[in-house]
Amino acid sequence: MKIKLPIYLDNNATTQMDPRVVETMMPYLSEKYGNYSSKHKLGYEAHSAVEYAREQIAKLINANADEIIFTSGATESINLAHIGFAVANQSKGKHIISSLVEHAASYESLQFLSKAGFEVTFIKPDKYGKIDPAEVVKNVKKDTILISLIYANNEIGTITDLQPIADFCNAEKIVFHTDATQAVGKIKIDIRELNPSMMSFNAHKIYGPKGIGALFINKNSFKFNLSPLIFGGNQENSLRSGTLNVPSIVGFGKACEILLQEFEKDIQHYKKLTDFMKKALIANLSDVKLNGHSSDRIYNNLNFTVKDVLANSLIKNIPEIAFSTGSACSSEGNKKNRILKAIGLPDNDIDSTFRIGVGRFNNMNDIEFASEILINQISSIREKSYKNQVAHNL
Ligand SMILES: *Cc1c(COP(=O)(O)O)cnc(C)c1O
Repeated sequence: MKIKLPIYLDNNATTQMDPRVVETMMPYLSEKYGNYSSKHKLGYEAHSAVEYAREQIAKLINANADEIIFTSGATESINLAHIGFAVANQSKGKHIISSLVEHAASYESLQFLSKAGFEVTFIKPDKYGKIDPAEVVKNVKKDTILISLIYANNEIGTITDLQPIADFCNAEKIVFHTDATQAVGKIKIDIRELNPSMMSFNAHKIYGPKGIGALFINKNSFKFNLSPLIFGGNQENSLRSGTLNVPSIVGFGKACEILLQEFEKDIQHYKKLTDFMKKALIANLSDVKLNGHSSDRIYNNLNFTVKDVLANSLIKNIPEIAFSTGSACSSEGNKKNRILKAIGLPDNDIDSTFRIGVGRFNNMNDIEFASEILINQISSIREKSYKNQVAHNL
């Protein structure tokens, strides 16, 4: 069988759009170009398409359509949930709780708030990336207004036990936000059961377009205030001004509709592929460790540390596979990956860590081929460095 190169195994970074999503978007990129707010045929057409998509998105998580606000992506949703909430509620308190394993969108927006006079407690995870709910509760103070935690980790795949924290927050009327960007499509989410105050997610991690996201705002639990961050024409209930991105919203809706229908199929597919690669690497290599939790993890993610192999060299040596390293310099500056540091990986191990994210469009051939190349390259880099060391000792 012919394999299309490169094999895309970076689905925790972004996903290929599902062809059914592209097809649904096409008319809205050409003849259906109306403005959602316009009062004529083209406007009404755009309006009804957006409202249909809002229903599709809400349905995936068992929410109501009026609880979904469109943004430019999960980063903006998270910023709105953090900064918009902090601005509107600072008279009630200035303490926020989060964790050290958040995505940069969360971590950096909270760093901004801490510079602006808020106090943020970042809970340290255990070595599997788990946040202890008891530890969160222990850190709550009289002036705690917001708790924000990642649902499934983008780097190591670990799933956070959110239910006890959400229950606590509802009982205490503390606003609870979760970044569910990696959880949607990999964990079944019933928003009425979890009952968070707010939840952020996007389209491009679930086979939809980039640059579109949603903030779920709970209207069936206790009420709270939220200030917009973007001002203008009062779109999205005045919470997010700006002309709506109709094609992307339509694509986001379709991506959610597909997920609702194919969730089980996707999950079983991810599990089969990652189980194969995990077993192959562990059986054929010494000193290879899977990071994150062994069972409480999203099935599409694998994060490995391979001793004595620089992940950056590995990536350079394997142009046939698109995957990522744990040591990539992030927007947070020239620092080691914060998430890997937080779970206690030494700097050397961080440099030897890489991430695989499988997706809907990978098949078993891809994974067999990728596993073989990875095993061969890791073995060969180790062999060369052993020879170099021997040569140096002569
Ligand atoms: C990708 C990602 C984000 C950022 O989403 P964008 O839509 O690209 O802004 C936030 N949180 C997590 C966990 C992610 O994986």
